Amino acid sequence: MTTTSRNRFDPHESLAKLRHEFGEHGGVNMSIEASTTFTVLEAGSLPRLFRGEIGPESGSPDVGGCYLYGRHFNPTVYVLGRELAALEGTAAGYCTASGMGAVSAVLMQCCEPSDHVVASDALYGGTYALLHDFLPKKANVATSFVDVADLAAIEAAFTPRTKLLYVESISNPTLVVADIPKLADIAHRHGAKLVVDNTFSPLVLSPAQLGADVVIHSLTKFINGASDIIAGAICADHNLIAQMMDLHTGALMLLGPTMDPRVAFEISLRLPHLAVRMAEHGRRALAFSERLAARGFKVTYPGLPSHPQHDLLRELANPGYGYGGIFSLDMETADRANLLLERLQNERGFGYIAVSLGYFDTLMSVSASSTSSELSPEDMDRAGISPGLVRFSIGISGSLEQRWSQMESAIDGMTN
Ligand code: PLP
Repeated sequence: MTTTSRNRFDPHESLAKLRHEFGEHGGVNMSIEASTTFTVLEAGSLPRLFRGEIGPESGSPDVGGCYLYGRHFNPTVYVLGRELAALEGTAAGYCTASGMGAVSAVLMQCCEPSDHVVASDALYGGTYALLHDFLPKKANVATSFVDVADLAAIEAAFTPRTKLLYVESISNPTLVVADIPKLADIAHRHGAKLVVDNTFSPLVLSPAQLGADVVIHSLTKFINGASDIIAGAICADHNLIAQMMDLHTGALMLLGPTMDPRVAFEISLRLPHLAVRMAEHGRRALAFSERLAARGFKVTYPGLPSHPQHDLLRELANPGYGYGGIFSLDMETADRANLLLERLQNERGFGYIAVSLGYFDTLMSVSASSTSSELSPEDMDRAGISPGLVRFSIGISGSLEQRWSQMESAIDGMTN
């Protein structure tokens, strides 16, 4: 599928088309609905709400307009869910207290005991631990981990019990780009759903437009952009969201990873400038990758023509938002990686030695000893995570040239 053969979808435009929510007094921003419980005018409405006959997600969205309880649907959180659905071009969306809340709820909702998941072998460490260690023991759900770029191996890993194919759009931290249309074909041929964690590439990639059934976000990262909120989201069809919110059987309702309405309000205010931020993160990540590669460093960035899936990403990406704000630098040993990070943070003020990503300042971490430390040494090796792999989430503060001069002086004498 080429960009021209697909219907052109622009996530930023899709978000802007959404009806604006006004505040209670006509404020240009929506009001925060802080109530945890909601009244009905007719007592008979309560049993109907419990049976799912009325309520925000019963049938078409907004029909009923009746709310019950904050862990079920809260109007402010519901607005953010609809905004994220617009961003991803899905029929529905809902928000969770964390990215892991979204990941675990989707897995629990879609899998029964003895079911099977095929997953990329390059995943965020928390997701890997959930699939590799937690779910087999607690729910008897097994996972086969496969190189996401090896489509034949992915297909071969399916069993009659496979319910989900789980991948990251651009993997953490190895930056492998998933061929979402082909993965969707494979999953659908086997009667499974394709779930894509799009945390690394909001706006850059629109997985649901490329065939994914479920899109997950850790909103904690680029979407919120300020490293001050932990949050997550699930974008899917009405059916799955309604199932997850079912009062008797829904994973979101029953496991309770509920987003606070004050958090939903804050994040909603940051969505309109996500496009500007992503384009700038991408512009700077590309410039840094090009300049570091030109100096002989081992850089991985999907925006570089040398990246194995560069052409694929060019084909799948929405134009105008770049190739993401994350690149990695392989310093080969942990000592060299740590030395570089300490120079960058403590001597040059280039950024912070910290996990997480998508912040407006640069965050840098050694993946093997931090966010990927859940992986066994063999799995780390298989996924291509060397002990000296440094993940950079490039910030947008200061100017590009100011930041480059800080980097340049820190790498002085460190060429590999
Ligand atoms: N998915 C990816 C790709 C991540 O990088 C992370 C966190 O680093 C998560 C999910 C989990 O998100 P949260 O920390 O918001 O629970």
